[in-house]
Formats: sequence, structure tokens, C-alpha cells
Amino acid sequence: MAQPASPASGDFIRDIIDNDLRAGRSEGRVATRFPPEPNGYIHIGHAKSVCLNFGLALQYSGTCNLRMDDTDPVGESMEYVESIIKDIRWLGFDWQDRLFYASDYFEKLYQFAVELIKKGDAYVCSLNADEIREYRGTFTQPGKDSPYRNRLVEENLDLFARMRAGEFPDGAHTLRAKIDMAAPNIVMRDPILYRIKREPHYRTDNKWVIYPMYDFAHCLSDALEGITHSICTLEFENNRPLYDWLVERLIEKNRPRQIEFARLNLSYTVLSKRRLIELVQKKYVKGWDDPRMPTVSGMRRRGYTPEAIRQFCAAIGVAKNDNLIDVALLEHCAREDLNERAPRAMCVLRPLKVIIDNYPEGKTQQLNCANHPKRPEMGTRQVPFSREIYIEREDFMEDPPKKYNRLAPGREARLRNSYVIKFEKMVKDEKSGEIIELHCSYAPETLDGPPADGRKVPGVIHWVSAGHAVPVEVRLYDRLFTVSDPGAEEEFLKFLNPSSLEILQNCMAEKSIADARPLQSYQFERQGYFCADEKDTKPGKPVFNRIVQLRDFWTKISEKISKNI
Ligand code: ATP
Ligand code: MG
Repeated sequence: MAQPASPASGDFIRDIIDNDLRAGRSEGRVATRFPPEPNGYIHIGHAKSVCLNFGLALQYSGTCNLRMDDTDPVGESMEYVESIIKDIRWLGFDWQDRLFYASDYFEKLYQFAVELIKKGDAYVCSLNADEIREYRGTFTQPGKDSPYRNRLVEENLDLFARMRAGEFPDGAHTLRAKIDMAAPNIVMRDPILYRIKREPHYRTDNKWVIYPMYDFAHCLSDALEGITHSICTLEFENNRPLYDWLVERLIEKNRPRQIEFARLNLSYTVLSKRRLIELVQKKYVKGWDDPRMPTVSGMRRRGYTPEAIRQFCAAIGVAKNDNLIDVALLEHCAREDLNERAPRAMCVLRPLKVIIDNYPEGKTQQLNCANHPKRPEMGTRQVPFSREIYIEREDFMEDPPKKYNRLAPGREARLRNSYVIKFEKMVKDEKSGEIIELHCSYAPETLDGPPADGRKVPGVIHWVSAGHAVPVEVRLYDRLFTVSDPGAEEEFLKFLNPSSLEILQNCMAEKSIADARPLQSYQFERQGYFCADEKDTKPGKPVFNRIVQLRDFWTKISEKISKNI
């Protein structure tokens, strides 16, 4: 698989790695991993971490493993594993034969725990969850030692083996590290390493009734795989001393180190898996790959390319402080990418019939149109022109303001790639007053140039020939939330945008796109970039998703970019 180039820019993580390499740590290797928990689909925040971890491996000629961090059976499944694999491949990254599962380490992790007990560094505690919390103390008060803290090694080994054997009910005992109940960092107050949980695991089924906690499993999985730099998000900063504590006691050489960076937060978007699951399960969206979702599968279906996503991840860089990135930057990256690659086509979203009275009935003219204004190698196509065409309803106004330069009584406009037409009259529905059709005239000399008298016609509108157009369904998307930081709201569902999806059933498109393949994208002139839906497009019957509009109507992008990069 082709590997994308990694951004060459420096940042604090690359500085750390450079220093480590200079100091000869880890035998000069760079080994990273991306460790998703298969309890949901990956999203654009995960993509940032994927690009970072795989990007570092590429840059330093190292390796990056894909590890399913599947040590908590609740909510994990093979469906999620498969989606994660598909999405990371699609993003353009390759882990060769290094796909691992933390659940494959359960036996080894158990043996590490036994070793810790033997060293007197872990004990079986029989306090219940409430008591453990109570004994833990607070930020301002030290904790209290568990009454079980001084159990003898033999007793601990016996109890731990019986925990594994299923002799005790859930919650009866835990295995805890023996560190310091008065530590200023609460994480270090005898953290739980194992708990009893009778929950079948999607890979190990009922083999285990005890499961390791993240803090225990993660650092040791890193060590087992020879990871040198374990990169995670900032919320694990307080857990780093525990990471080091465990690794120092159990791993002799080439100890991995943890480095934290700021997670991606995106405006008008939620990126917490718990919340994304809620959106899916309560059917606020149509599945994980709903084109409004910030998941990689949703973005693919919407029409984002891997290149645009990688460009976005490179543009935001990595930093040590949490911030909120404007979603307009992501849309900007999509636009930049699609502008280069998407062929142009015309599609009228809300059609209004126009009859060109002075054009011969029954005549069809084939107009030669460039598929891309700046890339002649993308070729040309024939677009039929005839007496009856459709234009966009909003390209006509009965009573327009002065500056309106599209069609209106007494005014004229140029049809894209075609003639200048002039308004003659309109026909209205007698009852509703709605405009049913327009009658116009065309100026025959204007196909390749200005009108004979040299007058200026500033407005250009798109159109399709009524007798040749194909009807298509188009789905227009808006932001899923109405507030810029929905993630900060406890009741985030209250801020769902009720009009985030508009379905237009009767759009009229030029024939060239009738055979669009799923995921093929176009620029529909003046309307934005559109992509044939991955699932609902059938041969000869495309359904289009609008990826982005041509311009950013929400924010002034240039300002945002200079702020964010
Ligand atoms: P949860 O929201 O349930 O904690 P998670 O988003 O942390 O889940 P994981 O599957 O544990 O999901 O994440 C895998 C990796 O992706 C982790 O290393 C995590 O730090 C990273 N990651 C997750 N969210 C983001 C984000 N918004 N920005 C950057 N990296 C992220
Ligand atoms: Mg997590």
C-alpha cells in the first residue's frame, strides 16, 4: 500500500524523540502504536492520533503497531474491530503484520500481576467499591490504608488465583498496587489493577472473569510489543507516574515512555465515543457512517478524501494545550483537495423550467465543456442544449434588489458554458401564485463571446437541458449541532440542529453524472462538492451527498487558519 508522506514540521514530540535518539535510548529505534478500544467507530480525533503515530514511524523509519486495546469486555465487538481496520487502511496507513490484541496478552498480564504480588508490590483488597472510594481521600486530604494492605504474599497469591478461578462474586475483591495512600497524585493511591467482572469477552468469551485495568494493561502491552514512545492524550498525564512505576518494576530494559498531547476538539462536533454511541443508539443519526457524523466512515461516505483528512491533521499539528479547532478548517482542507481532483458538472437542485422562445423546437446542440477549468488532461464532455432548460429557482427573482445579477424581469444572465438569455415573461399557477415557468429569449451570437453591442452581462447561472437531464436525489447537510462547543454541554442533545439534513428528491443533473460510481465526487457548478453516496447509489441512479459548499458561509476562513495553524 502506498504510504502518505509525513509532515516534516517539528513539534515537541519530535523534539523528545530526537533527544532520545541522540541519547541512544531504545537502541535507536522508534516504535509507536495506535491503540483503539474496539467499542465504537474511530473519528476524526482518532485520525489525528493515527496520523501522528504512523507519521512518526514513517519519518523515523520505525514501526507503528495497530493494537486493539480490548481489555474491558463491555461494549467491545468484532464489528468495531473490522471498522477500525477498514478505516485506518483507508486513511492510507499500513501496519504490515503488526496487528495485535491486548486480549492476547491476558495470560502474560496475569503473570505480571503475580510477579508484582510476589515482590510485595500488589495485594488483594476486599473493600467494596464505595469503601475504596471513601478510603481514597480527596485532592485536599490524604487517603487511608486499606485494612487488607498488609496481607501476606502467600495469601494474596491464593486469593488472586481464586479470583481468576471464579470463586468470588463480582466486586468481592480487587488486586491493587501497593504504592502510597498519601500520594499527592490520587492515581498513585494504591490503584486497582484487576477487578472481577463476569462479562463475556468478544474474543476470549468466558475464559476470564477477572480483567486488567487500563493503567495496568496498557503500559505492559506497550512493553511486550517493544514500543519506545507511547503517545496518548493529555487526560493521561496524571497516570504517567503509574505507567513508569509499573514498567520500572516489571520490565528490565528498553522501557517504553509515555508522551501526552492535546486531543482534538472540533467546533460544532462531539468527539466523545460515549456521545457518539448515544447519537447512533437513540437514532438521532442513521448509523455510525451517517455523513453528518465525525467518524472516519461518516466522513468517507460524505465524500472526504483520505488526503484531505491527512492534510487537516498535518495543519492542526500537535500541541500540549487543549483547544477547539474550527470545523471550518476541516471543510477548507476538503475544498482545497476537491478543487484539484473533482470534475465539474451541472446539477439544478431546485428546478425552474425555462422556455427559450426564439430557439428552434426539437433542436439539440452539443456544447463542448471542460471537465476542469485548470486541468485540460481531465478532458471535455458534451453537454446538450435545447429549447427547454431548467435553472435554479433561486436564480430568478420577481422583485430583486438592485445588485442582484441573475434573472429577473427585464434582466439577462449568461448560462454557464452557453448563451446569454433574457427574461421575457413568467407563468404563474393561478391558485397558488407560484411561478411555474419562465419564458426567455437567447442571443445567438453569445455562445463564444459577449453580446454584439458589447454590453456587459455579469451574472452566470448553471442549467441543464430539460429533455436530457436525469433526475437525482441530493442530500444537503448542515452542522449537527447549533452551538460551537456541544461537547461542553451536559445535555448536548438539546443542541442538535433540527435541520442538519435536507433531502431534495427532484434535482436535475446533466447526463454525465448518471453513471457516477459510489464515492465518486464532483463539483456541481456554483453548488459545492458532491459525492455519490457509498450505499444508496445504484447503477444509473446516483444519490449525492453535499460534502461542502464552495465557500465558507460561516466564518472567514483566512482568519481561522492563521489562528489555528
Ligand atoms: P473514550 O472517549 O471512550 O475514552 P477514546 O476516544 O479515548 O475513548 P480510544 O479507542 O481509547 O478512544 O482511543 C484510541 C487512541 O486515540 C488513544 O490513544 C486516544 O488517546 C486517541 N484519541 C482519542 N480521542 C482523540 C482525540 N479527540 N484527539 C486525539 N487523539 C484521540
Ligand atoms: Mg480511551
